[in-house]
Amino acid sequence: MAKKCMICDAPAVFQIKNTTDYYCADCAEENFGDVSVLVKVEEEAQRLKKLVDEKMEEENNYDESNN
Ligand SMILES: [Zn+2]
Repeated sequence: MAKKCMICDAPAVFQIKNTTDYYCADCAEENFGDVSVLVKVEEEAQRLKKLVDEKMEEENNYDESNN
């Protein structure tokens, strides 16, 4: 499910680090002159995917060592 800007409901591009607050590019710039507190939704999604992939890999390795 695509994330939406919590202000204007446009598709979100940014997320505030360690929160579930999402903003589109316009609102992010308007509300945060400094966008360094923001992470790109895409990057965060990839980071999470990578964590899941690594976790699955660990579990696969665990299975293999038991066979
Ligand atoms: Zn917005």
